[in-house]
Amino acid sequence: MRTVDESNAINVVRGWANALMSEPRMRQMRRTQAGLELNGVAEFLEQRFPLEPAEPPPVAPPGGLLLPTDALTPGTFISSTDTVDRLTPGWFMPMPAFRISGLRYTPEHQAWDCNAPFGEPQRGGLWGSLKPGVVLYAGNDNRPNIPLSWNRGKHVIVDYGSGLIGCACHFDDLLVDTGMEVDGGETLGRIGSTGYATGPHVHQWVERNGVRVDWIAEGHYTPVG
Ligand SMILES: [Zn+2]
Repeated sequence: MRTVDESNAINVVRGWANALMSEPRMRQMRRTQAGLELNGVAEFLEQRFPLEPAEPPPVAPPGGLLLPTDALTPGTFISSTDTVDRLTPGWFMPMPAFRISGLRYTPEHQAWDCNAPFGEPQRGGLWGSLKPGVVLYAGNDNRPNIPLSWNRGKHVIVDYGSGLIGCACHFDDLLVDTGMEVDGGETLGRIGSTGYATGPHVHQWVERNGVRVDWIAEGHYTPVG
């Protein structure tokens, strides 16, 4: 049993840690020494003062997705066999099929996190360009401060023309170079987990005339409901 004072102390530390970790710069530093030390403190507290058992964590159904129910209303799995007739002309599948793997498009995360479908390699899958274009940048240099991008890891920025630009992040390997022309669907890189990522996925954003757009909600890839 913990005393009232111990519980208060834990709550104070937890609140402080949460506030700190919600800072964008702290999020970037999660894997640095500061992050490790903070995790160490949290781990010590959990061991010394274990919490009451919580509800069991939710389990994804076979072949299903572990997402909040409102994570993606139209559908969660996007496959070329189902959508090929419904692709907007000029848009291409980045891989034969993909799924929403993590964060959805929100004001705070103006991108979709995508991955290979269940049963396929999550890491090493090939991710292609959403449209034909020219590679503006392929590399691991995160110094250019792009809003809402944090640490992109190995990433590729493609100029699709007509004011459209796309960026795909967190690759293990880049398979294009800056300045190259790419076709729609042409492979940009191997899915990985470089940069700020907790697992292999592609953080894909698109902007039109400098404004981030929800490239899935725009309906270029009508998902199967
Ligand atoms: Zn993301």
